[in-house]
Amino acid sequence: MSTATVAKGGRRAVAPAAQRAAGRPSWWPDLLAAATVFSLLAVVALWVRNRGLQDLFAGAPSALSSTGRLTGLVAADLLLVQVFLMARVPWIERTYGQDRLARWHRLTGFTSFNLMLAHVGLITLGYATTARTGLLREAWDLVADYPGVLLATAGTALLVMVVVTSLRAARRRLRYESWHLLHLYAYLGAGLALPHQLWTGTDFVGSPAATVYWWTAYTVAAGSVLVFRLGVPLGRSLWHDLRVAAVVPEAPGVVSVYLRGRRLHRLPVRAGQFFQWRFLDGPGWTRAHPYSLSAAPRPDVLRVTVKALGDDSWRVTRLRPGTRVLVEGPYGTLTGGVRQARKVTMIASGVGVTPLRALLEELPYAPGHAVLVQRARTEADLLFRGELAELAKARGVRLQHLVGPRAAPGSWLPAGYGDDAAALRRLVPDIARHDVYVCGPADWMAAVVRAARRGVPEERLHLEHFSW
Ligand SMILES: Cc1cc2nc3c(=O)[nH]c(=O)nc-3n(C[C@H](O)[C@H](O)[C@H](O)COP(=O)(O)OP(=O)(O)OC[C@H]3O[C@@H](n4cnc5c(N)ncnc54)[C@H](O)[C@@H]3O)c2cc1C
Repeated sequence: MSTATVAKGGRRAVAPAAQRAAGRPSWWPDLLAAATVFSLLAVVALWVRNRGLQDLFAGAPSALSSTGRLTGLVAADLLLVQVFLMARVPWIERTYGQDRLARWHRLTGFTSFNLMLAHVGLITLGYATTARTGLLREAWDLVADYPGVLLATAGTALLVMVVVTSLRAARRRLRYESWHLLHLYAYLGAGLALPHQLWTGTDFVGSPAATVYWWTAYTVAAGSVLVFRLGVPLGRSLWHDLRVAAVVPEAPGVVSVYLRGRRLHRLPVRAGQFFQWRFLDGPGWTRAHPYSLSAAPRPDVLRVTVKALGDDSWRVTRLRPGTRVLVEGPYGTLTGGVRQARKVTMIASGVGVTPLRALLEELPYAPGHAVLVQRARTEADLLFRGELAELAKARGVRLQHLVGPRAAPGSWLPAGYGDDAAALRRLVPDIARHDVYVCGPADWMAAVVRAARRGVPEERLHLEHFSW
């Protein structure tokens, strides 16, 4: 979901161009990593200050408990980092993009979870060894007698559920909405762990420095979620009072939704970005869905184009004018801000053409310096034919349609175009000197990226995935 470079081995990293374009210094993206490392060092320092090291060398039971304390503290710290990463803080979103943040969220999440399990095991073992009781007996005593541990156990159970449903195999079997709803229980899980830290954790309240640190960390994480995931979207939606103005069919199962609102010129959105949308047309409004703008934003109107793929996108095709709309965003870094070259190539498949069509409208380029390669299964599926033809005429965009079923699994082309990379060079001979924007289904994009990498520098490849 972000503008990204594609590095060798398939890993994606934010284009340095995003920083340059935003006028930020080159060290800006390292700030978040530095803050995370600093917070982990602070946690370790507080543990050391609270006799963590001495306890480590004071016999086996004490060493087990001390290591258990440390793993618990680091787990709690990473849990808060993880919550903060997904709080949709605007400058963080703009710097890293949602794809990259989601990857870090997953990494810190699984690390935090494993450390939390280690914490539970080590503390129980340490206390059992000290008290010379069995493990199960000690576990029961901890839950029954120690303040807050029962709540923390419930929190742990919720986090186990969230982690299990986030394993790739389980996630594939779940509908996005079900997975997302279950995932929200992580907030409750994190909240339930807090009381036992307050009531029994000497590292948490043992010194003024520890108290200040942990309260600050909890406040920043919870405050960011409240402000940026609830307050700002709600405030923005009310302030702009967005409503559906018209729903216009574009192709079979595809509609454009025109939206009007107040003071839209104050909405800080650019072509290529997307919002999370909630259409208040009845049951189902609680589920937000991401849709990119399909036309450059105007002071009086916004437009999205939606392909009906499931229940909620079908609802969009039946929206009535006047329906109120809540938005969260704008998100995404697939904008003109990442541009480096004078020439641009847009490569789109299906409804993935939406943000690229908006970009072609907004970006500056000379006639002949922009190419749109548009992929569709059938002629009827080619979206915006009339509008793009007008754009081609008015601004000198070269349009290239690729229509037909895929030549082979793993290819981005219809039959008859030959080798993937050679075909791309034939379609756009000087592509090595272009910025290349790609949008469509994930596996199709992977094939485009493999072909483009043979010539296009990584920092000029900008991607938006339409899947989670
Ligand atoms: C950044 C981004 C921009 C997008 N822009 C557009 C656009 O301009 N036009 C368009 O037609 N589609 C767009 N999509 C895809 C669109 O969000 C999904 O098709 C839509 O959410 C399907 O919801 P559903 O309930 O109708 O279908 P479902 O049956 O629930 O899902 C159909 C597919 O959409 C995926 N999906 C469902 N909900 C979400 C969600 N909240 N976030 C991410 N993926 C989801 C599911 O994984 C599944 O693959 C975009 C997706 C992303 C991630």
